[in-house]
Amino acid sequence: MKKLSVKLGVLFFIIIFGLITFMFFFLHNEIADSRIEEELQNLQSRGNSHRAILEKNFNDEMIDHVVLMESESNTDVVITNNSGEVLDSSAPFDTFKKYIEVPLSSIPRDGQVVEEKWNQEPYVATVSPIQINHEVTGYVYMFQDTVSFRSLIQKLNEHFLISGWISVVFTMVIIIFLSKGITKPLIKMKEATSQISKGNFSVSLPKTSDDELGDLANSIELLANDLNYLKQERNEFLASISHELRTPLTYIKGYADIVRKRNLPKEESNKYLTIIVEETNRLATLIKELFELAKLDQNSFIIEKEMIDLNKFFTKIDQRFSPIFNEKQMEFTMNCQQNLFLKADPLRLEQIIFNLLDNSMKYSANGAKISLMTWKNKNEIHIAIKDNGKGIPEKDLPYIFNRFYRVDKSRTRSLGGTGLGLAIVKELINAHGAEIVVKSKENIGTEFELIFKEEKK
Ligand code: ADP
Repeated sequence: MKKLSVKLGVLFFIIIFGLITFMFFFLHNEIADSRIEEELQNLQSRGNSHRAILEKNFNDEMIDHVVLMESESNTDVVITNNSGEVLDSSAPFDTFKKYIEVPLSSIPRDGQVVEEKWNQEPYVATVSPIQINHEVTGYVYMFQDTVSFRSLIQKLNEHFLISGWISVVFTMVIIIFLSKGITKPLIKMKEATSQISKGNFSVSLPKTSDDELGDLANSIELLANDLNYLKQERNEFLASISHELRTPLTYIKGYADIVRKRNLPKEESNKYLTIIVEETNRLATLIKELFELAKLDQNSFIIEKEMIDLNKFFTKIDQRFSPIFNEKQMEFTMNCQQNLFLKADPLRLEQIIFNLLDNSMKYSANGAKISLMTWKNKNEIHIAIKDNGKGIPEKDLPYIFNRFYRVDKSRTRSLGGTGLGLAIVKELINAHGAEIVVKSKENIGTEFELIFKEEKK
């Protein structure tokens, strides 16, 4: 049994069949018992009415009259005196002999059933006492053939059997439709996932329900779309990488050939060799950054957070960058709020700040002003790096964190940019659970703001 629909169907059927059988059994017994009870009561009340007549006139004439009445019906009567001697009977007495108890124990005024085993005995019987002047003077025994009881129960059984079969067939049909209804979307989903595993991501599943099955179908579609997006992104990324690697390699090969083949004066060959070294450096940076991104993607890097005294941290950074700023005649100002602590990985935070300061320098002219500010607002710690450099055009702003995205490809290249710096910054910021916001105006300047949630020690 491999199919889910079959398993579900069989399970439902067993449960429902069990329930129906139990209910029918219970109902059948109830109906049969009450029908027999009713018949016995009828018999007894018939005996009681004979008894009432006989109590008025307990003589041969009246006894004959009662017996005559019963000989016409499907019940029988036996009338005895108070010591059990038979006075008269509507059928040969021998048939009823064994039911007539002698002596009879005290019998209630309304009479009682003396034989009720309709499925074992040929007759059921009741007895009613005849009382004249508060003294029992005789008994009216009533008998009914149990063949009628049996045929009654047989009819009942037939009805139950027919309705049982109808219920079973009806249940089976419903179960088949129900289990198919449940498993059909599952089969569709299974087909969709095997399509996805074969690389076909354009799957669409019918929106049948808004229950868990509908949610599952939506999730599968979402998964297919995400995989499709990832596949496209990976292809674009690979194309970019090969392009980025090819450019410096073309330079290196070209200039190396020139230096090797032509007999150039030393000064000129030095110029070419410098280009080769620069391009090699670029390649090394590119590969280092790609490796960094790969590690970030795999989540195989560890963020080791510790409490950082931001004042001390930025003083060290200032010392590192001051000579470079001086060389470029750039004005660097730092404005850090006192006693500010941030829980972060110091090496990663350094990497983020280096990247942003490096960009500010790269994309600002000599003599530009660059500033770094830190402050606390409610339970957020803000770090902002601002320059008055060339800025970023509004149309490029949404893309600057994408891998290999550069606003001005040719110029950036001459500045040594790989287009991976901000992508790495973004990943590191995400890993800290922080946020990065950029504001920029072309030819006015750029500001990157980092927002960290304050974490207590
Ligand atoms: P790159 O290695 O090219 O600098 P990044 O990912 O660091 O790559 O930056 C992406 C692009 O965003 C850069 O090519 C540049 O055009 C733009 N950019 C980044 N920072 C600044 C800035 N401070 N001022 C102007 N443009 C910037």
